Amino acid sequence: MNLEEYKGICVFAQQTDHRLNSIAFELLGKGKELAKDLKTDVTAVLIGYEIMGLADELAAYGADRVIVVDGPEFKEYRAEPYTHALASAIGKYKPEIVLIGATAVGRELGPKVSARIATGLTADCTKLEIGDFPLHTVPDKEQKHNQLLMTRPAFGGNTIATIACPNHRPQMATVRPGVMRTAGKLQGRKALIEEFNPGYYSRKDTEILEIVKAVNETADIMDAKILVSGGRGIGGPENFHLLKELADALGGEVSCSRAVVDAGWKPKDLQVGQTGKTVRPNVYFAVGISGAIQHVAGMEESDLIIAINKDESAPIFEVADYGITGDWKKIVPELTRQLQAVRD
Ligand code: FAD
Repeated sequence: MNLEEYKGICVFAQQTDHRLNSIAFELLGKGKELAKDLKTDVTAVLIGYEIMGLADELAAYGADRVIVVDGPEFKEYRAEPYTHALASAIGKYKPEIVLIGATAVGRELGPKVSARIATGLTADCTKLEIGDFPLHTVPDKEQKHNQLLMTRPAFGGNTIATIACPNHRPQMATVRPGVMRTAGKLQGRKALIEEFNPGYYSRKDTEILEIVKAVNETADIMDAKILVSGGRGIGGPENFHLLKELADALGGEVSCSRAVVDAGWKPKDLQVGQTGKTVRPNVYFAVGISGAIQHVAGMEESDLIIAINKDESAPIFEVADYGITGDWKKIVPELTRQLQAVRD
């Protein structure tokens, strides 16, 4: 394999029902940073049916080029046609890096594409950077420069692994939603838009008979600007209304730790952490949460962290900007009352 043939960063711009998934913008943000280090550009690959209108939005979020694969067979996501389309686009454009969101779609699509084009894939990355590999001088190992260093938690979050793919191209990663920052929107920014036909695809392994959309009664905690998160210290599902009242007073939402989900007090949708969602609100209240590494992994990037815990040695205080030591049952209602008084 001639590694020199591969140039540029490629991101898979996931869309559903003609709406781009926010992970597409996050990947463009990270892609631009990597492209700056490598002095190259960022291409978005957009696959779907009648989706040409989305190309300008990708340009506004930083894509230098948008490759559009448009056809009725791509109307709904199906693994085989999408794998064929993305693998064919990679075969033609030969990017050195391919980023895909670690969404339900991306977790299926990424490994299939990487197998098809015979390269490696690091799944569920939380950090990506350009650097040398091996990281430290290892005797008898040639150090290669400008490699994609892909970092992800391993062994249940007890260690962090940094992985590279020095001998194959492209270097592929799926990236956790909510971890990377978007580059921001620049309305009117233009990209080169190219239509790409991946060629006739005759296999029909799956047929979609019906689509049943999940009805979600709770707001997506990944979109919330303020989160009031409760842990096992809340004591039971009957006490969560006090957190909801604080969240309402602040215009925020309630989220929780895994202990709360495991106890059946709250649905999994609200879980923050390594096996839950990664959140980045302006303010994160951690109430009755000890601050286990797997929880912190999902909220440490919040702009402001306020911890309320009766144990002054709880690890959550190590990541908190403000810490209140005491019984949350006294502190939270008082906080709500004072906020309501200011508001009224
Ligand atoms: P606890 O650790 O029991 O902490 C309760 C806290 O409440 C204590 O600090 C206590 O001092 C405080 N408290 C009690 N009463 C009061 C009171 N009246 N007032 C104030 N404070 C009080 N966890 C997650 O959250 N998210 C994940 O995604 C996740 N993924 C995991 C993945 C793996 C592979 C593994 C092994 C674990 C994972 N965990 C995850 C679990 C994690 O290790 C912890 O067990 C969990 O986060 C603990 O939840 P907690 O802080 O609510 O409960």
